[in-house]
Amino acid sequence: MNRRHLSSLASLSFALTLLAPLALRAQAPAPAPAPPDFSKVEIKTTKLADNFYMLEGQGGQIGVLPGPDGVFMVDSQFAPLSEKIAAAIKQISNQPIKFMVNTHVHGDHTGGDENFGKMGVTIMARPQLRERLEHPSPGANGQPGVPMPAAGLPKVTYDAPMTLYMNGEEIHLIPAPKAHTDGDIAVFFPDDNVLAAPGFVSNDGWPVIDWWTGGWTGGMLDGFDRLLEVADANTRIVPANGPPMTRAELKAQQAMYTTVFGRIHDLLTKALGTDEVLAAKPTAEYDAKFGDPKQFVTLAFQSTWGHLRDAYDTRLRNIA
Ligand SMILES: [Zn+2]
Repeated sequence: MNRRHLSSLASLSFALTLLAPLALRAQAPAPAPAPPDFSKVEIKTTKLADNFYMLEGQGGQIGVLPGPDGVFMVDSQFAPLSEKIAAAIKQISNQPIKFMVNTHVHGDHTGGDENFGKMGVTIMARPQLRERLEHPSPGANGQPGVPMPAAGLPKVTYDAPMTLYMNGEEIHLIPAPKAHTDGDIAVFFPDDNVLAAPGFVSNDGWPVIDWWTGGWTGGMLDGFDRLLEVADANTRIVPANGPPMTRAELKAQQAMYTTVFGRIHDLLTKALGTDEVLAAKPTAEYDAKFGDPKQFVTLAFQSTWGHLRDAYDTRLRNIA
């Protein structure tokens, strides 16, 4: 999810889950804008490699690997779009959709899971993601979160790298712990040289560092390392949002975040607060390209601070 999609999602029930602990741990969320009109959303299909397609609609990009063993897909976007997405996949392949991987828990990537689960699709995810779908946090207004119905819960969980063999190809599932969220996964298709990245890779604006579901700045930089390990100069990288990227663009993003997070960390160690960090403009030279950094910088600062505080709290508890 990025800043543009965050605003479009805010009135959906999952967003209450997402924003809930923010009220407890940081500032209150902005008032929710009107939801998008899903009836007007069209699904656009782009062929990225001989046997790999990217679908764009509303929310995170969807990856599609067709073949005789059935369709493997990455992420599901929002529930009201499931029929359109399934119809777009039918245009690519007559085979049934067999497996889907969720790259992270946000509703623009998991919202259609129940619909696809009912179609017989086996959903796969990291256990942290399944736990958050099954037991969402209370909303910012104190109302309980809405759990994902059983049909939409992942049936297979894994917390280490895993390889699937399907349609004569390999599919590599690569965990990126505590980056955008605590349940991020990247999906690499070496035979097509396509890499589907989780939510910390955004190519149309600053990403959300979702520290209230376990994401933080250090985890983001580690996540970039894992992606850069498998990508080469010809890899098509599908970000969570925005057009496909190259390895060089991915590396440039990691360098940018390393610079920005370093500045924020320096300010944090001087015991400065969020207002002072924003006033120091740690993203200044990147803002023309990536947009208003207020939310990004705020979450980067809070996630770093929160991560260090939580680790220290744990250490103190261990002493006690
Ligand atoms: Zn997201």
